[in-house]
Amino acid sequence: MSIIDVPIEDVENFRNELASIDRDGSRKWIYARQPKGRYYTARTIVASILLIFLFAGPHIYVNGHPFMLLNLPERMFIVFGIPFMPQDFHLVVLLALSSLVSVALFTAIAGRIWCGWICPQTIFLEMIFRRIEWFIEGSPKEQATLNAGPWSPKKMVKKGLKHVIFFGISFAIANTFLAYIIGRDALISIQLDDPMNHLAGLGIITLFSFVFYAVFARFREQACLIACPYGRYQSVLVDKNTIAVTYDFLRGEPRGKQKNRNTEHTHSNSGDCIDCHQCVVVCPTGIDIRNGIQLECVNCTACIDACDHVMNKIDKPKGLIRYTSWEAAKNGTANIFTARIKAYLAVWVILLTILGYMFSKRTETETLILRQPGTTFVKQGNDAIGNFFNVMITNKTFGDKEIEIKILSPKNASMKPLGSFTPVNEFTTLESRMLISIPKNSAVSGKTMIQFGIYSNGKILETVQSAFIAP
Ligand code: SF4
Ligand code: SF4
Repeated sequence: MSIIDVPIEDVENFRNELASIDRDGSRKWIYARQPKGRYYTARTIVASILLIFLFAGPHIYVNGHPFMLLNLPERMFIVFGIPFMPQDFHLVVLLALSSLVSVALFTAIAGRIWCGWICPQTIFLEMIFRRIEWFIEGSPKEQATLNAGPWSPKKMVKKGLKHVIFFGISFAIANTFLAYIIGRDALISIQLDDPMNHLAGLGIITLFSFVFYAVFARFREQACLIACPYGRYQSVLVDKNTIAVTYDFLRGEPRGKQKNRNTEHTHSNSGDCIDCHQCVVVCPTGIDIRNGIQLECVNCTACIDACDHVMNKIDKPKGLIRYTSWEAAKNGTANIFTARIKAYLAVWVILLTILGYMFSKRTETETLILRQPGTTFVKQGNDAIGNFFNVMITNKTFGDKEIEIKILSPKNASMKPLGSFTPVNEFTTLESRMLISIPKNSAVSGKTMIQFGIYSNGKILETVQSAFIAP
């Protein structure tokens, strides 16, 4: 029976239930078969590169500094070798906004390409954990038999070995993520030092090892189907023009088993889908892509490879399942640059331009000079008016900085440091005070803006303004 002969309520059943959850709410374990084909090979290469980068990341040092560090507790970040501090928070906000818009833009154009190719959850599950499972427990059929069978010595060895390896990899992942947060050297000292000195660090490593183990050994595709916020909201971003892993229903239907295509008449009326279910048995979320684009589809391309293999065998062109949009599958053409895409693109370009401009204006130091709270002005004899200022200089670079503060205007203002301004150590903020004086006869009543130049080794790093008050 082809899909167009089935009563609509049966066809639509897939909308009412998850392939991985039974009607009584219990879990239906997905035994996905290992795909083979050009997309799986390409994904393996991409995943290998990303995994190498992920695991090597915390160990890459440039000029003695980590290449990547996201030290939240100490609010110190190094991204691609560039140090950032909390003073750069505006850049982080802009980056977060640009990322959100780029996710919306790329999802609207190319669906869940992130999920299938780049997401760590998919990469770890499909490229590492599931491969180990296939290697130790065998094919999906063998896995199901093993799970259903009694606890024989063979089963205990296979399960024990698999779970020990799973936990070992989860432990490595937890250590790697912690190394990104606290740095490689701090992690090594947790690992090698007296455990009693690092109970919190060891507790975090243990906790996250168990979390990763639980996700990859048990929770699996449920993370994409239930927990992932992106998985939830991508459904409002895609439309019929979005390019996604799509079944060409015009070419495929009416589907029918190959063995039933024995008459000239049946053969000429049949679509290319031979209803072999090879696209379903490889699907890691257990769905049938022939039902159309579904929330559970992570665009992993396994069904493309499986179907291409079948098409090869029955001597039909590849691509019954392929990257295309619903509109293109139906009408042969699609309009990728819809008004919505143009709007996303415009907002994205604007945000990136602002981000690029702000980044180019980013200074090596960030200085705040403010009149001392609770003070106005002081008379300095009969000749001058003075204001006390608090100074905060943050060094956002690698290496200590010799700092000199000069008054750029007004020219007749003078400065008396009430503490040291230099050196400002790397990634620290130095606080000091100073007294600024302006001759009484040239002090403007009310507010005068004073412009300071912040110098290091004769090079101006930034200019700062502050208000001087006179009677
Ligand atoms: S693998 Fe291809 S031919 Fe087989 S059921 Fe899926 S879509 Fe049809
Ligand atoms: S339907 Fe195809 S692309 Fe989507 S998750 Fe299943 S196998 Fe992957």
